[in-house]
Amino acid sequence: MSHLTTPSPMRFIRQDIQSMHAYAIQNAAGMVKLDAMENPFSLSPELQKQLGERLGAVAINRYPGARVDDLKRALCAHVDLPSGHALMLGNGSDELISLLAMACDTPGASILAPLPGFVMYAMGAQLQGLVFHGVPLTADFELDETAMVEALRQHQPAITYLAYPNNPTANLWDAAVIRRLIAEAARFGGLVVMDEAYQPFSSRSWLTEMRSQPEANANVLLMRTLSKLGLAGVRLGYLLGPKALVDEVDKLRPPYNVSVLNAECALFALEHAEVFAAQARQICQQRDVLIHALASMPGVTPFPSDANMVLARVTDAQRCFDGLKARGLLVKNVSKMHPLLGQCLRLTVGTPTENAMLIRALPDCL
Ligand SMILES: *Cc1c(COP(=O)(O)O)cnc(C)c1O
Repeated sequence: MSHLTTPSPMRFIRQDIQSMHAYAIQNAAGMVKLDAMENPFSLSPELQKQLGERLGAVAINRYPGARVDDLKRALCAHVDLPSGHALMLGNGSDELISLLAMACDTPGASILAPLPGFVMYAMGAQLQGLVFHGVPLTADFELDETAMVEALRQHQPAITYLAYPNNPTANLWDAAVIRRLIAEAARFGGLVVMDEAYQPFSSRSWLTEMRSQPEANANVLLMRTLSKLGLAGVRLGYLLGPKALVDEVDKLRPPYNVSVLNAECALFALEHAEVFAAQARQICQQRDVLIHALASMPGVTPFPSDANMVLARVTDAQRCFDGLKARGLLVKNVSKMHPLLGQCLRLTVGTPTENAMLIRALPDCL
């Protein structure tokens, strides 16, 4: 074959992937980072030293084994796993979202979630070749029950994702509505995945429901992550639910998806759970300080939050984002993500000092 007619190997790369943009991560060098719902507190020097020693002793020459099982057991104890339930680990929740799409990839299967929501639900569906159905929230970011029920009946999605609380709106939805949606999905055997990435900052957890009403939640899986608690760099998520269901998803997990270093870090964090719990309490207090300050600024409307972020509408989101950036503060401009988010910024709650900087800088950026 001549040089000119040699086909490009690109022909075997899926066209939909070639048309995609890679997940964009903002460059944050030298900035106060209030864009990604990270815990702003670093480990104390004493804990850093202890963790360093622990990690140094890890058998990195071996494939992950018993230590990962130790972590699983520690997480089961941490959440007080209800009987008849099982728990599996993911390399962050993001991996679990991919595995769930893979598990449900039958002809015609689809995935449904309210919008605006976490982008990985749609991306996980798309990459697996599943159809994604987004159902708009109401203007005040509540579930549109009528539209959700209608969409469930029409599409009978394999998976319905409900982020509790939601990202980027930060609110918890009405539990009574969720109960009815779960029952609606149950009528056709649809799974409902409650995504509790922000559980450390939330006033409610669906695990309470799963524990007290196991029959009504027989089609429900619960997903959590250690990312927002303070281990975003570690990559550790977990999925729990009725054992038979979790066992099926677990078959798809790459056998060594969680490294021994991830596992050791996560075990260390669980052993020092009180340190992270205290940080979460402080972040919740700071969230209230931030919401209060935003509410007093003319032209700024903060929305209620049960997470470590605050969604706020301003008069000109781009101008505000640029102004904050010029002052060294990086937030997330979500105003183009969905029509309901017009002129909205998502502000991650930082340390008291960082939040004070944000509160001081904002009026000049409006
Ligand atoms: C951040 C986030 C996740 C992803 O968590 P990782 O464990 O870091 O992959 C999942 N769901 C929601 C709603 C999130 O906001």
